[in-house]
Amino acid sequence: MQVESPTVRCVGSAGACAVDKLQKIESFCNEFVGFTRITMEDGSTGWGQVSTYHADITCQVMHRQVAPWMLGQDLSDLDDVLDRVTEREHKFPGSYLRRAMSGVDTAVWDMRGKRAGVSVCELLGGTPGPLRVYASSMKRDITPEQEAQRIVKLRERYGFDAFKFRVGAECGRDVDEWPGRTEAIIPAIRQAVGDDMALLVDANSGFSPARAIDVGRRLEDHGICHFEEPTPYWEHAQTRAVTEALNLDVTGGEQDCDLTLWSYLTGTGVMNIAQPDVLYMGGICRTLQVARMAQAADMPVTPHCANLSLVTLFTAHLLKALPNAGKYLEFSIEGEDYYPWQQNLYMHDPYVIEDGMLMVSEAPGWGVEINPDWLASSTYQCSDANDQ
Ligand SMILES: [Mg+2]
Repeated sequence: MQVESPTVRCVGSAGACAVDKLQKIESFCNEFVGFTRITMEDGSTGWGQVSTYHADITCQVMHRQVAPWMLGQDLSDLDDVLDRVTEREHKFPGSYLRRAMSGVDTAVWDMRGKRAGVSVCELLGGTPGPLRVYASSMKRDITPEQEAQRIVKLRERYGFDAFKFRVGAECGRDVDEWPGRTEAIIPAIRQAVGDDMALLVDANSGFSPARAIDVGRRLEDHGICHFEEPTPYWEHAQTRAVTEALNLDVTGGEQDCDLTLWSYLTGTGVMNIAQPDVLYMGGICRTLQVARMAQAADMPVTPHCANLSLVTLFTAHLLKALPNAGKYLEFSIEGEDYYPWQQNLYMHDPYVIEDGMLMVSEAPGWGVEINPDWLASSTYQCSDANDQ
């Protein structure tokens, strides 16, 4: 995959190359979502986002453990600067650091796109345009009948041709949401939508290998093509056992943010499809590294992006550019009852679905504008290179 080199601008009669230094990192957050804005030494700006949930804590991590190693640095080689954050914070290799790094990484990609006058998708070597999505249900407290009715209505309205529903219970140790729900919902959804719709399920680490294989055979009998996190995701031998026993695609990886672990997951056949989350991973640069590992192993990448904060937009731009992009973009169908914090985030809704497709815009950067009223109501924090 071709990733365009960041712009190196030359100034002065001697043509000396200017370094591209990061001047300022700002955050605007509440408990659920945190937007970021970076400003370069030359005044260029870009918008990004840390990962959702405990976003207020994540923004603290960004200002305390990411900003000191990035401010005042030349970002021409962003991968290298992000690696230095990892090295300086090597005592903290976990999720929060990656979630926080995403806030700067994604804002840098927006800045680069705006500077070059092109979308991030194009910076990544892709072409903007329509992208197939799958309608993604987050609910388990919904009966098979209600879920079936819901997807039939949504298909009529938005033209979805792929749908993911939930089986088992989250880290459920083989105990279902209620007895028989998994056995009931598999045929109920297939019967309601007919044979033309691609069907996916997510078990969220709910089953033992034996139960997962039994459920997997039922899934295969009903033409379901994607079985996500069948067993506890951290138990790789269990996932591998399910992958080896079944013919459908066993998928996973949304929680994993460690590149060495990803090298193992992609290189040893633990699963069939890789599902990194751009914002759990630490941003676009680190997710690209996972995508390349997957490509080397002939694995498609169908990233995790389970809400309509900016994570779905970032993922859409990425998918349009990946040579080993999976068949569709995850697109949450949950509204205000499930995601009350998702309301009024943008000036113009970037998530309009027509004929089952999301349009990836050719507007510069991410092509999105955060709602100033939302920003005004958020908690603001700023780290400046001059104060370091
Ligand atoms: Mg999942």
